[in-house]
Amino acid sequence: MAQAPRKIVHLDADAFFASVEQVLEPSLRGKPIAVGGAERGIVCSASYEARRLGVRTPMPTAAARRICPGLIMVPGRHGVYSEFSHRMFEIIHDFTPEVERCSIDEGYFELSGRREPIEELTGAIRDRIRKTLQLPVSFGMGSNKLVTQIASKMYKPESFHLVPPGSEAMFLYPLSNRWLPGVGEKTGKALDALGLHNVFHILQAPLSLLERAVGSYARELRQYAAGVDERPVVSIAEDPKSYGQQKTFLEELENRGEVELRLKRMLDELMAKIRADGKYVRTLTVRVRYPGMEEAQGSQSLCEPSCVATDFYPLLKELLTRIWRKPLPLRMAGVKLSQVYRASSVALHLPLFSGRPDGGEARIRLARAVDQLHRTLGQGAIGPARDILHEEKSEKEPPPHLFFEE
Ligand SMILES: [Mg+2]
Repeated sequence: MAQAPRKIVHLDADAFFASVEQVLEPSLRGKPIAVGGAERGIVCSASYEARRLGVRTPMPTAAARRICPGLIMVPGRHGVYSEFSHRMFEIIHDFTPEVERCSIDEGYFELSGRREPIEELTGAIRDRIRKTLQLPVSFGMGSNKLVTQIASKMYKPESFHLVPPGSEAMFLYPLSNRWLPGVGEKTGKALDALGLHNVFHILQAPLSLLERAVGSYARELRQYAAGVDERPVVSIAEDPKSYGQQKTFLEELENRGEVELRLKRMLDELMAKIRADGKYVRTLTVRVRYPGMEEAQGSQSLCEPSCVATDFYPLLKELLTRIWRKPLPLRMAGVKLSQVYRASSVALHLPLFSGRPDGGEARIRLARAVDQLHRTLGQGAIGPARDILHEEKSEKEPPPHLFFEE
């Protein structure tokens, strides 16, 4: 007996960054807006109102302004987009654990194990996203990744299109060869030159002819042209939701400088791990325990996620001041970093980031260089200059040999 067709959905948020801005700022709704770095002058995302007037991504801001003089430019806020993305995928996770996130606003999920019709479940997901996030999102539904991805993109925005199982090949026949996986502009032109403009032509072409344009990829390409695509939906194991460390002190501590130093060291260690995992974090929680086991804690977030410990130092100081009921000494203190983002989603639009006045990128490079030295020469090889000041105090931990300024 033939296997039941898989139930796969591709989702893709429409004009994601611009849509988020329009959700958060009602006065921008219905207007041509573009998100982009004003200095670098590249349009990262354009609202559909702007697209209708010819604005495209990526396009120099100057060119976009010429085409559309009324264009409203909005600086990007990556932390906010990551947050929306996170919440969008969380909604899907409520329906199925099989979710493959491809980028900040795009992914696949699988509902094969579910009895309900695919349109019913996908409709429920769409409604939840609309209601809680107000974001316009496109959905393509079908039996494999290829057709669902095309279906969501082809009928954008707010598409909700099912390619019924069995009709995959028919759905693809009339489409340009550019829709097939692995066919970019260059390969597309090579196929065009052989008269293989559409998917149907590719399906009909002898393998030897196809090989002249795409070499050893010919067989696989023809499979795709026939609407056959066995690629699985690869759900990645749950990422850690937070990173934390705490220490119970042998002697109760009442010196603020000493506590701060220890917490900073914990932050440094955690941050090295976060960088090694390819992550960014936004929220810092500081926790303390007094001799009677009573505890206090407080949290604070950065505007944008970071992977550099020094970004969190000011928050650490503030939190410690806020939660520590002096003159009580401390038995234990710890830090936790939460709201974890994947570096790939944060770095996706680096131009937005590199405009930071504090040289964000340079500091990340420095931190990575230090990580590398620690790995090859050991933890004692290099450390922050503040440790010189505490040289005499910390007998157990010898100070590092090299220092860098923070
Ligand atoms: Mg999108």
